[in-house]
Formats: sequence, structure tokens, C-alpha cells
Amino acid sequence: MSQAEIAKTLSLLFPPGSVLELRALRKSGGMASGYYTDINKLAHDAEILDFTNEYAGIYVILNKINPVLFSRRANRIEMRLSKEDKATCDEDILQRWWFPIDIDPKRPSGISSSDEEHDKALYKAGKIREFLSGMGWPEPVLADSGNGAHLLYRIDLPNDPESVHLIRQGLNVLSAFFSDEFSSIDTSVGKAAQLWKLYGTMAKKGDSVADRPHRRSRILSSPESFMLVPKELLVQLASLLPAPPKQEKTPVQRTTDTLDLGDWLNSHGLSFREKPYGGGRLFLFDQCPFSSAHSDGAYAIQFDNGAIFAGCHHNSCGGGEQRWQELRERYEGPKPKKNYEDRMKKWARERAIAKAEYYGNIDEPGLKPISQLLETDISEKAREILHYGDPIEYIRNSVAVDHEGDDVVSSCLIMSFASRSVLNSNGLHVLVTGESGKGKSHIFDTMIQHLPPDERLDGRLSNKALFYTEGLKPGTAICLDDMALSESMQETLKGVTTSFKRPFIYRTVNKDRKGQVCIIPERCVWWIAKVDGTGDEQVWNRMLTCWIDDSAEQDERVLARELASAEEFPEVFTDTRKEVLVCHEICRQVQPVHVVIPYAKRIRFTSSSNRRNPGMLLDLIKSHAALFQFQRQRVNRNGVDVVIASKEDFNFASLIYLELNSVSGGQITKLTKSESKLIELIRSTGKDEFTMKELVDMSGKTYEAIRKLLRGKGEKSSHCGLLEKCPAITYLMRTDMTDSGNRSQLVYVWNEMLYRAWSSGGGCWLAEDKDLDGKGSGNGGDGDAGDGNVDAGTRLSGVNGNFTESREDKGVFGDVQACSCSGKTDLVTGETGESETGGGENFSPPKEEYIEEYSKNKNNIKELVIDRRKFPGAESPYDPVCSPLSPPEVFLRSVEKSESENNLCPVLESEQKSGGEKFSPVFSDHQNFSPVTPVTPVAFVDPVDPVTLVPPATSVISVNPVTQVAPATKITAEKKAPSMVLSW
Ligand SMILES: [Zn+2]
Repeated sequence: MSQAEIAKTLSLLFPPGSVLELRALRKSGGMASGYYTDINKLAHDAEILDFTNEYAGIYVILNKINPVLFSRRANRIEMRLSKEDKATCDEDILQRWWFPIDIDPKRPSGISSSDEEHDKALYKAGKIREFLSGMGWPEPVLADSGNGAHLLYRIDLPNDPESVHLIRQGLNVLSAFFSDEFSSIDTSVGKAAQLWKLYGTMAKKGDSVADRPHRRSRILSSPESFMLVPKELLVQLASLLPAPPKQEKTPVQRTTDTLDLGDWLNSHGLSFREKPYGGGRLFLFDQCPFSSAHSDGAYAIQFDNGAIFAGCHHNSCGGGEQRWQELRERYEGPKPKKNYEDRMKKWARERAIAKAEYYGNIDEPGLKPISQLLETDISEKAREILHYGDPIEYIRNSVAVDHEGDDVVSSCLIMSFASRSVLNSNGLHVLVTGESGKGKSHIFDTMIQHLPPDERLDGRLSNKALFYTEGLKPGTAICLDDMALSESMQETLKGVTTSFKRPFIYRTVNKDRKGQVCIIPERCVWWIAKVDGTGDEQVWNRMLTCWIDDSAEQDERVLARELASAEEFPEVFTDTRKEVLVCHEICRQVQPVHVVIPYAKRIRFTSSSNRRNPGMLLDLIKSHAALFQFQRQRVNRNGVDVVIASKEDFNFASLIYLELNSVSGGQITKLTKSESKLIELIRSTGKDEFTMKELVDMSGKTYEAIRKLLRGKGEKSSHCGLLEKCPAITYLMRTDMTDSGNRSQLVYVWNEMLYRAWSSGGGCWLAEDKDLDGKGSGNGGDGDAGDGNVDAGTRLSGVNGNFTESREDKGVFGDVQACSCSGKTDLVTGETGESETGGGENFSPPKEEYIEEYSKNKNNIKELVIDRRKFPGAESPYDPVCSPLSPPEVFLRSVEKSESENNLCPVLESEQKSGGEKFSPVFSDHQNFSPVTPVTPVAFVDPVDPVTLVPPATSVISVNPVTQVAPATKITAEKKAPSMVLSW
């Protein structure tokens, strides 16, 4: 009976032919283990184990086991194994098949649960199932584990650090919501090689007694056909609760006015249950404060550092979006900034009346004195803000009155302006990119109005006009608005940004052909708006590179604001609001200072490959400190004011730094937003090869638009494309043999690992004090900025923290190297004497070096290739096949070899006409694609992979010899998941 039950379980949970491990843990220690492909044999052996009283539990492993393990104990059980004997470990797992939830009644260890405890666990399983189905999750397997309850959700994820992180954090979230005094959600079952109760066998913890009996585990219900949980839903679950901020050794200073969330909720009549979470407190609301449609699902967290998060997991409530500000405003009224003008007027009037009273001028309160007094008041207000307030927030709020959104851009502009006051800064300039009509000019115009009129140069400038502008003061902010940067202008920019601390002298010839010396004074900051990035990398490198928010939501907000303002009666009829005047005054009162960062040696970067970006972070810290100079420790050395930067300065700077490297800009990658979007699109498919046609179909853009994104505008335009900017995109000619003959086409190849290595570097953090051995960057695993604020940025880094982790992971890093070796740089491998796998296994070089090495290789590759030709012995086996027809240079990225463009032209034409379908007999020497043999998947891909319902089309199968899986196969299942019905 139980044998049939067990076999049924196995055929439900695993694809036929899978290698499964049966393991039983002996009560007296030690274990029994066997590997099976024959489920009936497994069920038979399991039943035998189940009969003896020696074993406390009988288990299988839920995920896909590397089939080579089968030969350890092929279809047989070995009973007397010790803990040291080999069994399946996490590294042996190829694919994650199940998201497991184990609801375990709380009771003393080593005994079975009582009936009541058992029932409560099953009831809770029902609640969790309801919770997840509310978020769009499909039907799970519900099982009785004997003592508690199980839920199993079908997933299909690679066994990589990202999956581990997703599953663990998902379990943490479920535990935060559902663990209580009766039962807990086991958060330790996220391991790849997790042992799982084999349903049909008995759970035999302790002795079976009347009120705590042994029970047989069994499946209670399962869907008729399984649906995959799409990865997006796992991400959503994992990000419902923000990751707790990194604990700092030195306790975070909690200012006395830090709000106590528990008190606040109580005082506003919100009832809740409270639990500890990540060193802070989690509050689960009894009634969702955001919606009356449901009661459960809303929560708030206060972390140890005081930061607060509030949200609701229901999709109609934002699905875990940060809504604390909104919640607070709902009970306390809107934030002051919205009716700031009222307050400002009232305040000015009160002052005026007070002064009028003082001077005995009561008869005409506020009439005459107001204009006179206002000036003093404004300067007092500015002083107050600089000494006790937050000047950045003040300026940002005032800018926000006129410009919707784009907070990061405003912050960058403010920091740029502040950098003028830092004597030891190299200056911060700002480059804003984004499509036209999305407000680039508008934010510049708005921000520049907040600067004192004599310290700004606005309007549109021609290159030459700049030099002829009379009386340009040192430290002027200069706006270049959406103009094409001529070559000479780029040169100028390079010059002025390099000589930030000195005047830039430029010799030119004027209209009358007379030599002329032009001077741009020192400490000028440059704000540049462009549709594309500028072409010159050196110019990019000196700029804080941010994107204008061009999302549809932003468009809506802008429109809504415009419509609302059309309905409004004006409150002030003057040109300049008073806050703007206060901002001018703030700028004037900030004094030039030298900033010292006492903790600079402890700053760590996830990547220091771009030498300028760390310098930018330092300048951001200094600029922030300069703005807060009246609130920092300050000493005078030899007549120079020295300000000591604090942790707050680092926190702010690192947040901006992170934003610029993630959602708000392409600081490291130098990508524009549309390029970044295309990359996100490519990455979201998980595929690693694309034809032009597929890219066009996928993106919904035109052929020309995609071509521009990939290849730039060609000719001498300053705009270059992704092929040049991003090393993870390459192209190659693929020749596949089909029934009708050879078919060649140009395909773009995506290398995810390389991309991660290349785009990493946005993170920075402060190392512990003890870690001062100058090891340099890259040896920490944490990309979190360590900032106390829980906002979108931090959440992002928390959830995606696994990216950083995975980069640190030696296995993955090995892949990166191996990938690049197997790709276009395989020729180099032979030259440097590195074995393809050796680099990965030893993992000695930190990744910065790797990237450096990579770019070195990139530059040297042509020479190396030429060298190779001189030494035939060094050639790879692929050379003889292809070299006469297509030299390897063709397969390098276009940037290195301009002549390769020519080679490809005919193909591009054909591609253009037929969308990549037409074939011409060009051979490929890419080692993945042999021109003579049809492409077939390699090891570890089941001949009949039951996960894949869509038969892999020959045109998209790509065999990746490094990872030993067929990516196309894997991804098909993943992406089609939401609507896909699965059966083994
Ligand atoms: Zn809600």
C-alpha cells in the first residue's frame, strides 16, 4: 500500500527518468542512501526502510540532481553510511524545481506533534496558500508531513546564488507574516539539496504515544496540472519586506525626535501584532489602512536605526511598495512643503508685524517694512537652514514646486553647485540624458533659477559665445542645453573639467583671423543635457551621469500637475518666490572650505575598475559636507577652514552613487536610458542569442531604432552604440545546417556573466575599523550602501544584493572568466597560457583585475591574432576550418575593428531586407557553431526535457560549453511560465 503511495508521490513530483536520492536518517546517527532512476525500486526500498524502527525519517531531494551521481549507488540503497559518506550536496543540484514551505508546530524537539498542533499547522498552510494565491501564485501541492504541513510550489530556476537568495528571502517573508506561537515557517529549507519528507512514509519523531502519535505523511491535494511560479512573483514575495539595513558596529545615533512607530500607530488607533524583524520591529496591521477591500496584508517595519517602511502585499495596495510617507500624511496631514508658500507668507508677515510693533509703527502693519525686512529675514532663514536644517532638502523642495519628480537629478545638480565651495574637489559636473520633451531643459531652468543670478549662466550657448561672455565669474554654473557638442566643444569641456581649480585658457582665431586668448574662469560647473550620451568617454567620465525620468508614470504626474495648476488661483504675483530667494542666499552663505574625510580608507567599492568614479564619490561626500559645513566639526588650519565630513555625508553620497549606478543613471556603464532598457529587455528573456528580427519584435521599436541603439549613428557622429559600449554584446555569423542547405545569419550574442562583471561597481560601503589592512576594494560581499533610509534605492539593493554576492562567488566568477574565454577571447587564452577552466577554479584575481585584464585583452586582441598567425602551433582547432573564408576579426566587436564593419556589410543588407532570415554561405569560426555539424544540446539536458513544452527550435538552440546547459531550453520554460501548464 505505502509502496504504491510512494511511487505515486514520486511520479507527481519528479520528471520520469530523473535521478533521485533516497536518504534515511538513522535515530542513532548515520544514514542510508541510494540513487535511483527507477521509482518503483525506490518506493520498494523506501518501504523496507519505513518498516524498521531504526530511522527517524525518510527523505528525497526536491531539486534536479546531477545525473552522474547515479553511479554512486545505482538503484540500490546502502544502509550503513556514516555522516562523512558522500551524499548529494548543494553543488550537485542543477536546477531548482520546488519552492518548499514547511509549517512546523512549535514543540520540544525530538517528539511528534499533538493532534491539535498538527491541525493548526494544516490550517495555517491553508492561510499561506490563500495569501500566495492572492498574489497570483498557482495552486501548490498541499501535504501532511506527519507532524506539520507542507506546501510545494513548482518553480524552475537555475541553482545559482540569486535563486538561493530569492527562495531564502521568500521564506523569511512568509515567516515574518505567518510564524506565531503555535507554529513556525522553517526558513532553513531554502538549500538546493534540501532533504524533504518522502510522502507515503511515516514520521517517527520520538515514541508514538496516544497524544503524540506517529503519522504517515501524505499528499493531501495537488493541482491537476502544475503551473510554474514565474520568477517575478518570487521576486515580489522576496521584496515585500525590505532587507534590514546593515548593522553598524557603532550604534546609529538616533536623534531625539526619531519617531517611535509603535507609539505612533497606537496614538493613531491602528491595531497590530508586533514581531521582531531584522534587528527592528515588524508591525502586522489588523486592518489594512490603505484599503477597505481587505483586512490582512498590511505591515510596517521600524529598523534599529529608526528608518520606517510601511506597505501592503496586496497588488491593489502597491504590492509591497513603500507607502510610509502616505500613511503618515493620512494621519498627520500633508507634508509642510505643499503649503510652504502659505507658511512662508505668514511667517514673513508675523515678523514684519513684530518688528513694526517694536519700532512703534503699528498703524501700517506689514506695508512698508515688509520689503525692507524681508531681505534680513531671508538671510536669517538661509542661516537657520544651513545651521540647523537640511539645505539639500530645502532646495529640492523648492525646485519640486516647479518641477515634478527627478529628485536624483536635482540632488546631482545641487551637489555639483556645492562642489565649487570645496577647495580640494575636482569639481562635479552633471550630464543628463533622456529623450527630448521629457523635461531635461525644464529641470535645468528650474534649478538654475535657484542659484544667485550672478553665479549662473543660463540660456542656450553657442560654443564660441561661451568664450566671449564678458565678466564670467569664477564658480559660475554653465548650462549647455540639448545641443550637439561639437568636437571643439568636447575638447573645451575636457579642458575645463580637468583644470577645475585653475582658469582654462584657450587660444583661438577670431572672425578677423586674429589670434585671441579666451579664458574660462576656475571652479565653473557644467550642466549638460543631451538626448544621447556625448561620444567622448573622457567627457562622460567627468560627469555625474543621470537619466531624466521618462516613464509613463512621470508623464502622467507632469500632466496632472499641469492640469491642476491651470485651475488654481495664483497666490504670489511676483516673479520670484521667497523660497527661491532663500535658496540664493543659502548658496551665497556657503563658504569655500577644505573637506577632510576621516574614514576615507575604509570606503570599499564593489568595483574600482573605473578610476574616476571613486573620485566622484569622494567629491560627493565633500560637497555634501560643504553644504552642511555649519553642522560639522570645523577647524582652521593656516587660515583655511577645514570641515570634517561625517557619516551622514557618506550615507548621502553613497545613496546618490548607488542611484546613478542603478535606476537613475549609467554612471559606470555610461549607457543611456534607452540603451539600458534594451539591455534589460534582453536580460529579461534570459536568452543569449538574438537575431535582429527578434530584437525588433521584442522591443516593439523600429528596425532603425534598434540598429542605432546597437551600432550607433555611424559615420563621425559622437554617438556610439551598445556594441561599442557594452562588452557583453557581440555578434557573430551563425551557420546552421538545415534540410534545405546551410543557412547563415547574423546573430547578436549576450553574455550575462560578462555583463554583471562589467556593470558591477555601483556599490560602496564602509568597512569595519579593523579592516584597515589596505586590502583595497572588492573583498566585501555587501553592496548595500548601509544607509538607514528605507527607500526604493535601498530596497532595490537589498533585494538584488544577491547580484553582488554572486559576483563574489568564486564559482560564478569562474564562469565569467570561462565565458569570456569560450567567446571571442578564446584566442587570447592560448597566448596567455591560461587554461579555460583554470582561471575559474583558482579564483585568485579579484574581479577588478579581471576587468582590467579583459579590456587589456580587448585592445591587444588584434595583435595577438596577428601573432597567432605567425605561430601556427598556437592556433585553435577551429582556425583551419574558417580562416580562409572569414578571419576571426569578423567576430570581434565592431569597435575594435572598423574593417569588420565592411566585411559584414553585405550581410547586414540582406538582414535588413529579410529581417535576418536570408542566408548566405558564410562560414562561422565561432567554436560553438561548427559549420559542418548541426547543433545539438550537450550533457545534462534530458533528451526529453519535460519542463520544456515548446520544442526547442534549432534556430535558437545555442550550446554553451561552459555552463553545460542549453540556455534556450531552460529559458523557454521560465518565460512562458505564467500561462504554461506543466506535466512531467
Ligand atoms: Zn492593503
